Amino acid sequence: MVISGKTRVCGVIGDPIAHTLSPTIQNAAFNHLKLDFVFLAFRVKPADLENAIRGMRGLGIHGLNVTMPHKSAVIKYLDQLDSTVQFLGSANTILNRDGKLFGFNTDGIGALKALQENGVALYDKKVLLLGAGGAAKAIAFAFAEEIGELVILNRAAEKAAELAAALNRVFGTKIVGGALSQSAVQQNLQDADILVNATSVGMHPNVNQSLVPAQWLKPDLAVMDIVYNPVETKLAKDAKAAGAKVISGVEMLIHQGAASFEIWTGCPAPVEVMRQAALSQLSSAGAEK
Ligand code: NAD
Repeated sequence: MVISGKTRVCGVIGDPIAHTLSPTIQNAAFNHLKLDFVFLAFRVKPADLENAIRGMRGLGIHGLNVTMPHKSAVIKYLDQLDSTVQFLGSANTILNRDGKLFGFNTDGIGALKALQENGVALYDKKVLLLGAGGAAKAIAFAFAEEIGELVILNRAAEKAAELAAALNRVFGTKIVGGALSQSAVQQNLQDADILVNATSVGMHPNVNQSLVPAQWLKPDLAVMDIVYNPVETKLAKDAKAAGAKVISGVEMLIHQGAASFEIWTGCPAPVEVMRQAALSQLSSAGAEK
């Protein structure tokens, strides 16, 4: 990589940020395509967010990923929000086009692509989504148009019900939300085609936890666990043992990063290069996005 006076700067802002995978993934892609871009990580505390976005304008930083805890707070500093960001109330990608800041959210498209590219079609399928946090909301919004049925179960049932109601208002679909009880999971799994864990259960260091007992998993189910640290969660291991098709959280991570890359560069993302870069960093200890 040669840094010159013309090099475009992209980055990720968050707090904490030290273990982010994004610089590894994005720089691997820039290098592979010989693009004159560089990607850095910036630790930005909540009190400094407004200054950070001013800095993006002042320094002409070309693009940013936005991660915890800024995804929602950042949108008031942006000039234009796409329809996904308007619905979700959170952005994970900013493009600086001639001084105007555009907000996008690529989490949902990342999850959608992760399934599609791994041979899992959503059309007319029943999806059971566990969680109603930021990532779950993005996934539900991205899936809503295609699926036959979506059931959202969350620890705080009212959050799942609110999300379902908001989606039904936009899409006029049959989306239901309820409490994440063992009986609701068991009952909905009986005729579900796709199970998505969008909670943080199973994430390092709680690697032996899963919301779904192994005996409820079956061969005709596709299971995506969006937790990517560890790369193979307990749910993913149990699903594999049950003969189910398993899509790892790394796939969503790669595809949301690829979508951001394409927004910044206008070039098709080298997905396989990005995947290998992510997996090699994850194989060294304790990585986080
Ligand atoms: P969030 O804090 O907005 O939501 C967390 C969700 O987990 C909520 O629905 C909460 O109810 C649920 N939850 C937490 N502990 C629980 C428990 N013990 N039992 C039941 N439910 C529980 O977080 P988020 O941004 O939505 O992220 C959720 C997970 O997804 C994290 O592990 C994050 O690293 C991962 N993630 C992965 C990607 C990817 O690209 N693969 C992208 C975004 C987030």
